[in-house]
Amino acid sequence: MKKGNRIAVVFLFFMLGAVSANAQHFDDYFVDKTLRISYLHIGNKNLEYLQIDHFTLVDHWNGTRSQLVEPYQYGDILIEVFDQVSKKLIYSRSYSCLFTEYRTTERGETEIARMEECANIPMPKKPVRLRFTSFDRKNEPTVLKDTVLNPADLPVQPAKKEYDVMNLHKGNSPDKALDLLFIPDGYAKSDAKKLDYDMKRFAKYVMNCTPYKENRRHVNIRAIKGFSEQSGITQPQNNFYVNTLLNCTYNAIDLDRYLMCMGVWNLHEVADDAPYDAIIIICNSEKYGGGGIYNFYCTVYNQGEYPDYVVVHEMGHLIGGLADEYYTSEVSVQDFYPEGVEPTEPNLTTLVDFGSKWADKVESGTPIPTPPVSKGHPDYDRIGVYEGGGYVAKGVYRPTLHCTMNSISYNDFCPVCRETLEKVIRYYSR
Ligand SMILES: [Zn+2]
Repeated sequence: MKKGNRIAVVFLFFMLGAVSANAQHFDDYFVDKTLRISYLHIGNKNLEYLQIDHFTLVDHWNGTRSQLVEPYQYGDILIEVFDQVSKKLIYSRSYSCLFTEYRTTERGETEIARMEECANIPMPKKPVRLRFTSFDRKNEPTVLKDTVLNPADLPVQPAKKEYDVMNLHKGNSPDKALDLLFIPDGYAKSDAKKLDYDMKRFAKYVMNCTPYKENRRHVNIRAIKGFSEQSGITQPQNNFYVNTLLNCTYNAIDLDRYLMCMGVWNLHEVADDAPYDAIIIICNSEKYGGGGIYNFYCTVYNQGEYPDYVVVHEMGHLIGGLADEYYTSEVSVQDFYPEGVEPTEPNLTTLVDFGSKWADKVESGTPIPTPPVSKGHPDYDRIGVYEGGGYVAKGVYRPTLHCTMNSISYNDFCPVCRETLEKVIRYYSR
């Protein structure tokens, strides 16, 4: 399937989504529980497959019930659930993962990685077909798994309740709001006071930032009160290793400030004590760092000058599928935006299909590409098509000269990023 077809598929999903919202009821196909599928994503640049490991059953389905087919397909991996009898698509969600990034690194050319991943789907009432499809940077699909799940004989383990939960911001009920869940990592028992203070501090960073600020009723923030054996976060390049709740580490895929969690199965086991649509890991470390992947999870360091900016920036990746708008950085991923392919991220374009991006926001008469101006110039805030973005200096374009997805600038999402985030918040609030 070429890119054009993928767009057609996305539009089709959009329509199906609209139809499903009216014609299909959650209760016809699902019970009010979450089925978590835990699997390994295995391979390298030329090899990719999934190996399902176990199933967990969690009380309640906290995702949206009115739009079971996700309208945005920003992720590299698409999960689809079909009713086995009618063959109808009854649930879908896409996400991206560390594995996809790993495949594009030098190490990923030869070395095989085995990375943990999880998918949450509403628990089906009757047998369903479950399909995982991976899309490469050229939008070529590969079906990774196509299997039948029969709820009557599925070996499920019930989730265990282990942690206290802090309520940090209360909006609508979980099925009618974006449920953000903070999980602390690297906080020892002796850091208990700091943990409480930090969770509240980060909730303020989120709720004081547009567009979360304007959507207070549509957002919930909770935190898991989980302690680690030791204080701090592992930094392999400094030979500093600590035993923590989530085993987060700097230098993920050999990038110094890339802070990721290598134990994703455990991450979800800790998370499932509270309703969640998105997981934000608050790491007890002064070393600048973070990371965020669409519908996967994000991380942020907790001390120093910029955690307020880093948390909302990484949440831009996590929730909105937004790309980095900067392009001068030490990044070990190669060939991220192949020529002739429109990126899936809503805030970048290669001008291959600009009409599907922010073309409607560009005032007529604006030159394309738009020449940059300096801060203070009357056109500094103008929406245009500025060359450079997504780590690439040439041939990839971004909407504005300044944005939280571009440089260290808190509460400064450009109109394109802001609108993308608002749309996603509304999707969860329906
Ligand atoms: Zn932006």
